[in-house]
Amino acid sequence: MVPHEMMVVKSGEAGAEEWNCPSCGRRLLLRWPPRFERTVLHPGDDRVMHVGARTSVGDVPEQELRWLSANGILWT
Ligand SMILES: [Zn+2]
Repeated sequence: MVPHEMMVVKSGEAGAEEWNCPSCGRRLLLRWPPRFERTVLHPGDDRVMHVGARTSVGDVPEQELRWLSANGILWT
């Protein structure tokens, strides 16, 4: 199965980001360290693997990559 690619649609205050999957409509709210948090706003098709992509790519710490993959988002 082809993974869906999620994109950041909004960066909120306090380090929260809204992620959207254009293919199935899955939407997540991600909060970065020091307060890791994930809220599923819309489940979309959760049988599909979702990968994360960012338009502005910086160095993502190993610890955050592990957290993302544990939460169903694989960094590409
Ligand atoms: Zn999707």
